Amino acid sequence: MNLLDGTARSYAWGSRTALAELRGVPAPTRHPEAEMWFGAHPGDPAHLVTPRGRVSLLEAIDSDPTGLLGTGVVERYGPRLPFLVKFLAAEEPLSLQAHPSSDQAREGFRRENAAGVPLDASVRNYKDASHKPELVVALTEFDALAGFRSPAETVELFGRLDADELRPYTEMLAAQPDSSGLRTLFTSWITLPQRALDSVLPAVLDACVRALERAEQTGDRTFVPELRTALELGEYYPGDAGVLAALLLNRVTLQPGEALYLDAGNLHAYLRGTAVEIMANSDNVLRGGLTPKHVDVPELLRVLDFEPLDSPVLVADTSRPHVVRYPTPAPEFALVGVELSAASGDGEPWTLAHDGDAAPRIVLCVDGRVQVSSGETTLVVERGGAVWIAASDPDPQLCALTDTARVFVAGVGGI
Ligand SMILES: [Zn+2]
Repeated sequence: MNLLDGTARSYAWGSRTALAELRGVPAPTRHPEAEMWFGAHPGDPAHLVTPRGRVSLLEAIDSDPTGLLGTGVVERYGPRLPFLVKFLAAEEPLSLQAHPSSDQAREGFRRENAAGVPLDASVRNYKDASHKPELVVALTEFDALAGFRSPAETVELFGRLDADELRPYTEMLAAQPDSSGLRTLFTSWITLPQRALDSVLPAVLDACVRALERAEQTGDRTFVPELRTALELGEYYPGDAGVLAALLLNRVTLQPGEALYLDAGNLHAYLRGTAVEIMANSDNVLRGGLTPKHVDVPELLRVLDFEPLDSPVLVADTSRPHVVRYPTPAPEFALVGVELSAASGDGEPWTLAHDGDAAPRIVLCVDGRVQVSSGETTLVVERGGAVWIAASDPDPQLCALTDTARVFVAGVGGI
């Protein structure tokens, strides 16, 4: 068991304050901090803090896969950590994207290898042969677009937008209010020639402004977040078809502790907020716009799931006091949130036992200060910090050193 130093990733959409404040370091930072990775991704592994200095988690796993990961994980996933867990802080919207299923990823990876597209080429879609299910749990209020809204509601939203340019598309969806209608509409928008887009998009955004003014006058708040998001995206990405496509998606605001699970084919974009995110250890992203990065529309259309998603927010399991489980179908990861109380008060230390075979865990502290004891080793992890617990470590006990504390425990699912 070791303290685990995450690696900060600086992307333009990141925040100069959120992750710094979480770790208790001076803010604002010089560069925006978008993500803090705790994992063994070859692109940016975290580091174990050991008496001999910092050791890359990737190298540590390479030199003792069975000890660190456990035999069950190695048998199932090979000698690699199957998940990556992060802090994420979005100040600006991220790209509109979806991730492939396992079959699509295997096929796409093979196809791009056969075509000789270098792994580091900017046009490469499939960086590996794995799917990339994602689970995001809000630490602050967290805004996102996730999955297609029911077509009937979208027709209602369009009905409130008084724009001639939108009318044919509204009729198109009203005539076929199902996944096929969504596919047809999305496909025609995402492939619209720039000239057509340059007339439709400003007209739709003007209609959004007028609809917001009407909402202001009448006090009817229906679709106000959707309209504001469209305008905001239109400002960040003028002339981008992704702004229109965003009008088809569920606009979600998560409260702290609430979560979204993004399965293969779910079109999504994170908009703003701080979160813990866990995903299968993959880099397979297909973008549909709202980004200066590579966009491959035909490939995106191959993987997208157009089935409307009625309630994108994950129903967490809160049946145990102080524990929130976020059940997902993804076998590569599991995430649990735990409220700890001080062992010196009336609280007992919380034992982190395995459900099945021994597997590694990463404990992220998001509030307070926590003591973690395993065998002879005792560590103290501060807010914003993390602890690596190898499969071979004795089951650790956690307790708060502050009045209360909160951690997330990331592990491998179904082990
Ligand atoms: Zn994603």
